[in-house]
Amino acid sequence: MTILSMIDPAWAIACAFIFSLCVGSFLNVVIHRLPIMMEREWLAEHNEDSNEQEPFNLSIPASACPQCAHKIRWYENIPVLSYAYLRAKCSSCGLHIPFRYPFIELFSAVTVAYIVYLFGLNEISLSLSLLTWGLICLIFIDIDHQLLPDKLTFPLLWLGLLANSFGLFTSLESAVYGAIAGYLSLWSVYWAFKLLTGKEGMGYGDFKLLAALGAWAGISQIPLIILLSSVVGAVLGIAMIIGKKQEQQTPIPFGPYLAIAGWIALLWGDKITGAYLQFVGL
Ligand SMILES: [Zn+2]
Repeated sequence: MTILSMIDPAWAIACAFIFSLCVGSFLNVVIHRLPIMMEREWLAEHNEDSNEQEPFNLSIPASACPQCAHKIRWYENIPVLSYAYLRAKCSSCGLHIPFRYPFIELFSAVTVAYIVYLFGLNEISLSLSLLTWGLICLIFIDIDHQLLPDKLTFPLLWLGLLANSFGLFTSLESAVYGAIAGYLSLWSVYWAFKLLTGKEGMGYGDFKLLAALGAWAGISQIPLIILLSSVVGAVLGIAMIIGKKQEQQTPIPFGPYLAIAGWIALLWGDKITGAYLQFVGL
């Protein structure tokens, strides 16, 4: 990594921003298509006469307008710029393009540029970027479908263990115990809640996501991630109630809060814990 460390930091951050903007464009595809692919797989497994399906994956069919089927040309597919150039409308039928698409691209670009700003161009930034992209997909799929696909949580879990086999964020031992503690802590909350109220408070995807975050951040950060996810949940929940008059009935998925809390704990966990211990005078 010696050649990479010779690159001017400002230049590295700018390149990371642009590269992650393009990855963000692909994340939009994953967020939209992965749940559809999973549904089609499920239907194909449970239904014998459905094998005449058109191929559908992350690259086929080409992106098209959902209303007029206008094929999106390459210059209409440039992150953020095309959205501005098209003025948030399909060039063929004028269908409104949701702000969410450029938002996810910018979200991806800003977070990864910030990671490169903090750590420089190295294996820590590379692994954190992969985690960030995975978490962005999970956040928006969970918001849309109340679902955290194994196809995303499991690779993140393996990747966390792999990163920590090189000791990038914590020891391998702490990562393994973190994964187990992450799964079991929410699993016990789930069963306690179910036995007490007869209701299901969260899904198995939440346990797997916290297991993955535990594999990245290590067992010592699990309490902080749980605490932070409640804080993030409360702050965003109140903001949503004030902003959109969110109905009490709508189920709010827990995955996004866990993902944001895990990301914060991984980047600033030690600082937050240090500041807290100083605050209480330890
Ligand atoms: Zn259209």
